[in-house]
Amino acid sequence: MSKSEVKDFLSQHPDITTIELLLSDLNGVVRGKRIERDLLEKVFTKGFYLPGSVMALDSAGTTVEESGLGMDVGDRDRLCKPIPGTLSIVPWHEGGDRAQALCTMYKDRSTGFFADPRQVLVNAIDRFSQLGYDVGFAVELEFYLIDKQRDEKGNIQPPIALGSERRMMSSQVYSIDDLDQYDFFIRDVIETARQQNIPADTVIAEYAPGQFEVNLDYGTDILKAVDQAVLLKRVIRSVANKYNMDASFMAKPYIDQSGSGLHLHLSLLKDGENVFAAEDPTQNPLLRQAIAGLLSMADSTQAFLAPTVNSFRRLAPENFAPTSKTWAYDNRTVALRIPSGGQSATRIEHRMSGADANPYLATAVLLAGVTEGIQNKLEAPDPVVGNAYDQEHEQVADNQRDALRKMEADPRVSDWFGKDFVELYSACKWSELRMFEQQITQMEYDLLLPYV
Ligand code: GLU
Ligand code: MG
Ligand code: MG
Repeated sequence: MSKSEVKDFLSQHPDITTIELLLSDLNGVVRGKRIERDLLEKVFTKGFYLPGSVMALDSAGTTVEESGLGMDVGDRDRLCKPIPGTLSIVPWHEGGDRAQALCTMYKDRSTGFFADPRQVLVNAIDRFSQLGYDVGFAVELEFYLIDKQRDEKGNIQPPIALGSERRMMSSQVYSIDDLDQYDFFIRDVIETARQQNIPADTVIAEYAPGQFEVNLDYGTDILKAVDQAVLLKRVIRSVANKYNMDASFMAKPYIDQSGSGLHLHLSLLKDGENVFAAEDPTQNPLLRQAIAGLLSMADSTQAFLAPTVNSFRRLAPENFAPTSKTWAYDNRTVALRIPSGGQSATRIEHRMSGADANPYLATAVLLAGVTEGIQNKLEAPDPVVGNAYDQEHEQVADNQRDALRKMEADPRVSDWFGKDFVELYSACKWSELRMFEQQITQMEYDLLLPYV
């Protein structure tokens, strides 16, 4: 970002005193630090420093020991820089004196740091670009609004909307009444996003009480769109907090309700023409190759798309989350959907990621699969017709252990994501899985302790 961009911003916003410098960690959790206004210009021109271990934290916030980024190297500082165009005000901060910038970590002044997930996507975009296509790309974010109060049994519950007596206990998908009830929140999200130059354009009520989806408008710059998705998640969370609710991107907060996904839409264009377009898009050779590539890497990249034990709970039938390595036209029971909507809008909707997936990594998975499929002219199986949940298809892994092993075994994954990154990610995920497996659950105490 140029000096003048900073100067313009500060002169347009004389009340800003503090700027938050944000980075996404391995899990997509935003971390960073705050600086005072006077430092901003220096930070934008010279950068600032954070310990490299910020990129090696597991979900408990503990540095992953095997990462080589912690104590072993004295928790070294790494150069970070703000990303041009991401400096914006933070409207939910009451004092009106706060701004933010999204940042990225460097190995040195010109090379990105391998452990920064945004850098993984930068590398994937570089390789994908060699195919020579422009893109249409869009992100959909599903999430739950959750009351900060637990119910009398200590369970999570949907919130009571502002000014309402009624707790949202049932939901009708696409319900306009539900949107109305939460209008105070939705309006605020869209307006806040607008103030941060994030093009959030569509909101729907999803299948479950308190579950919504916000879509980003179609863009042609993948990296920018994913940066915006990361920032939009922060908007959604922060606006929810304003109204004393939590917004959660946990993939499966209620076992008997639908989970939340992170859907990615991609079309390829040449000279402004959608190259996936065809009278019957399922017969388009290029689209079929892209699908074949995605399916061929579905197993070995699943650990990125379902990054937590909880995320695997989402991959259950009947709630429109994928359980099989399948594709189809205008069909929500598969992993890769070709939505209807006219030839020029032909695209792949990648439905495999839980909402808890890191958007940088999920998008890198999408680009890797599409590129591998097209470069190697892979052949797709036939598209599914009908309800995929009722048919025999090859299943996606149903547990994190299997997914991690498959990730580690596929050389294409280290090739695309970087060997060091895959080792780091894998160490982080095994550490989280160990944490989970070391718990003895209430159910075991209830069912076993008194009886066996
Ligand atoms: N919530 C579903 C999922 O977990 C998707 C529902 C939809 O098609 O919007 O992916
Ligand atoms: Mg949805
Ligand atoms: Mg969708």
